[in-house]
Amino acid sequence: MDNLRQSTATTHNPQPTTSHAPHHAWKKISKWRVGYTNNCIDCGLCVLACPYGVHQRLPGTLKMAAPKNSGCIGPQCESILPDNYCVKQCPYDAITVTPNEEFEALGDPRYTPDLLASLWHMAEYGEAPPEHLYERRIGKSGGGFDLMRFNFKRLRNERPTSRDLDNISISLDLNRRAYGSKIKISVPWYGGGMSYGSVSLSVMLARAMAAKAWNTFTSTGEGGYPKELTPYKDYIITQIATGMFGVREETAGWAKIIEIKYAQGAKPGLGGHLLSDKNTPDVARMREAVPYTSLFSPFPFHSVYSVEDHKKHVDWMMTMGGSKILVSAKVSTPTDVDMVAVGCYYGGVHIIHLDGSYGGTGAAPDIAKKNIAMPIEYAIPKVHRFLNEEGIRDEITLIASGGIRNAWDMAKAIALGADGCVIGTTDIVAVNCTRCGNCEKGRGCQHGIASTDPEFTEQISPEWGAQRIINLYNALSLDLKEILWRLGLNSIQELRGRHDLLYYLNDHQ
Ligand code: SF4
Ligand code: SF4
Repeated sequence: MDNLRQSTATTHNPQPTTSHAPHHAWKKISKWRVGYTNNCIDCGLCVLACPYGVHQRLPGTLKMAAPKNSGCIGPQCESILPDNYCVKQCPYDAITVTPNEEFEALGDPRYTPDLLASLWHMAEYGEAPPEHLYERRIGKSGGGFDLMRFNFKRLRNERPTSRDLDNISISLDLNRRAYGSKIKISVPWYGGGMSYGSVSLSVMLARAMAAKAWNTFTSTGEGGYPKELTPYKDYIITQIATGMFGVREETAGWAKIIEIKYAQGAKPGLGGHLLSDKNTPDVARMREAVPYTSLFSPFPFHSVYSVEDHKKHVDWMMTMGGSKILVSAKVSTPTDVDMVAVGCYYGGVHIIHLDGSYGGTGAAPDIAKKNIAMPIEYAIPKVHRFLNEEGIRDEITLIASGGIRNAWDMAKAIALGADGCVIGTTDIVAVNCTRCGNCEKGRGCQHGIASTDPEFTEQISPEWGAQRIINLYNALSLDLKEILWRLGLNSIQELRGRHDLLYYLNDHQ
């Protein structure tokens, strides 16, 4: 982990160091299965044919070794590399390439197996997987960002040089108001709230270390502020939500940003719920609650029913945090979200955080995730336009979340009018979340991600998790810069509101 120490020590290093961070227990799951029939005579022609090193001989022998399935790009190889396609090149018709059913069973239509595998690859290596291995730009939800495409100026087969990418700026100013600190983050995203209790302390620490390395932020969520996070306090947003769990003036004073969570897009109108099994003695101590009882955060804040009430809340945050503090209001996306955003502005916040309907871990009920809030791709342009019409757009930072999975989703959200994005699930996919949806069953996630069970959580070390997220952010930043380069833009600010660069596929395209 020497590389990690190097990255985290240089606070504003624009390019934290990536290093190989494989999973300690999992064998990589391949998309394709390559097999040899009894016709194989070990001639070795396929070893020469495949450019991805899938076929190899057993060292020191003429016998074929078991194929390295994870490098195979599948039958599309025939059209992309016709002279190399092993199945056709084999004179004995001895090679089979078939889909791996275990791979295909991963994920869901939003986080497809390809998207999950590409994020895992990025977290392991710090760069995107080979172009033809996975479809990493879109999922298969049949709507939203998955049906949007960019009108690129430069074609896909043109490649930017590293100098081209170095010249593109993706940093983001979080404060456009006349008061509060000027805070610039190096990437146009930060980590969304995941509370102590909903995820493990190791995951919180990993996210905080990565936020520091990339000069961005992560949010505590609403479960309080574990003392282990204090070395990273300049990169942590303190969230205050309706349950007021773990809210202390002391920790609010440490933060550079306080986030008031009015609602969340995955379950608007429902508040929060921590199952009793996950409320371990440590979690309960932090939340000042009784261990192993279910904890509910009500909806809404019963002290806020008007813009004036909201303003009092913002004043309270500034009293606790001091005049330099930035205040963010996290809201879900009801049909009048544009009015909500304007009210947030007049209440005095620096950041409006719109949380649309696609986000949430397995803890959010499906019926809420899929049916209540407005999808984020509708909410962003509605708010952006209304703030423009009110003449206040450039005085407020608009951050979007709710199912932002990769650099393409971020670029689309920004083209629709956001300044930047919040990611949550993508961070936990980096530490090998499989999207199995078992976060709230029994003792929580068996991989130690969405769990506080001491036996489960020891599987993830904060250093390993941090390196995975640092690597992921490196790959995301490269992808985002390449998108800007293909669009002929020099900075992320130039993309904001450029919905003319997007088009939407209809059912027949
Ligand atoms: S199909 Fe192509 S990529 Fe896959 S093993 Fe054969 S030559 Fe290699
Ligand atoms: S792997 Fe863990 S965190 Fe991810 S969905 Fe499953 S239970 Fe939840």
